[in-house]
Amino acid sequence: MASSIRHKHLSTRVAQALGWVDKTTGAVVPPIHPSVPYERDSAGRYPAGRAYTRDHNPTYDQAEALLADLEQGSAAMLFASGMSAATTVFETLEVGDHVVAPQEMYWTIREWLQGMASRERLAVDFVANGDLGLLKRAIRPGVTRIVWVESPANPSGTITDIDETVAIAREAGARIVVDSTVSTPVLCRPLEHGADLVMHSATKQLNGHSDVLAGALVTKHQDEFWERCQRERACRGAVLGPFESWLLLRGMRTLDLRVRRSAKSAQRIAEVLDSHAAVSEVLYPGLTNHPGHLIAVRQMHGGFGMLVSFRLHGGVAEARRVAGALHLFRNATSLGGVESLVEHRASVEGPGTIVPDDLLRLSIGIEDPDDLVADLEDALSG
Ligand code: PLP
Repeated sequence: MASSIRHKHLSTRVAQALGWVDKTTGAVVPPIHPSVPYERDSAGRYPAGRAYTRDHNPTYDQAEALLADLEQGSAAMLFASGMSAATTVFETLEVGDHVVAPQEMYWTIREWLQGMASRERLAVDFVANGDLGLLKRAIRPGVTRIVWVESPANPSGTITDIDETVAIAREAGARIVVDSTVSTPVLCRPLEHGADLVMHSATKQLNGHSDVLAGALVTKHQDEFWERCQRERACRGAVLGPFESWLLLRGMRTLDLRVRRSAKSAQRIAEVLDSHAAVSEVLYPGLTNHPGHLIAVRQMHGGFGMLVSFRLHGGVAEARRVAGALHLFRNATSLGGVESLVEHRASVEGPGTIVPDDLLRLSIGIEDPDDLVADLEDALSG
């Protein structure tokens, strides 16, 4: 890393991707390294410290260093998806280890954990998001290994107080892992609040262009647990390819601009929806009437994220109608891209979902907010 950039603002560090310049060519944009094998020297050693691309590829290095820097961690690892990053954390645990996870969380992780519990691979308790009393009762001192947090939660926008959760989990000897996909390091850095590990679906706003599937873990300490995560990634080959790593790094360079723009638009859209006669409830932590607003103000800086969910008086039929009547918002599942999306979340999650069927989830992109508001008002007025 160029030493002149080390103490600069996040927006500068991310735009310059830590100011790295390729040593061999002087290129400001990094190269892509597709090579699978790395040559040994005549003594049989690997002079560059790399043997095989499954866990060693120089294309990952810069994106991982940037992510570690942005989250104020000591190291980061890229994964083939957010799911492979999340499941790697749990795969390091022993049979029967106990995990506490929130009731409202990214549904595929919840479903996967339920499967692990039903096969008795792990013991899992799901606790109402942010309810510290229930968390205290669920935690088993010396037995609970991981307390999983997702804040803001997808799609409910529920906020969990990371400082308080850390205090409770620490006392019981558990690790705290935060899925910070919706915040990104621009808005919240859980490691600064005492969390041990941050997880991202880098598919979302970190990459930001809806063209890469990727995940990441960032650690505070490079301890024995981190080494287990490294071994898991290497053995399961859950790593990102060099082309995707390169695309991710390119996307991340505009992270600060995109996150701030979409959060500002999301705030405005949440306020418009909140005063609309057709809307029964808006789930956005930036609204003063949101139950987690004051915690979010303390924990998040510069905005409350791109995810706005809302419920309609007209129920499921009206929710489906509005999703279909929007023109600028694409009716598709994902979040954090430059283009705005809408989805009827209960249909995406299917039977067993805990999401109300009158709920629509918006991911706010970087289009002109006036156009997005007009599109929503037209669709809502039928
Ligand atoms: N965590 C959150 C909050 C998500 O929204 C998602 C995907 O939507 C994931 C994790 C899983 O990430 P991926 O789709 O990259 O596997």
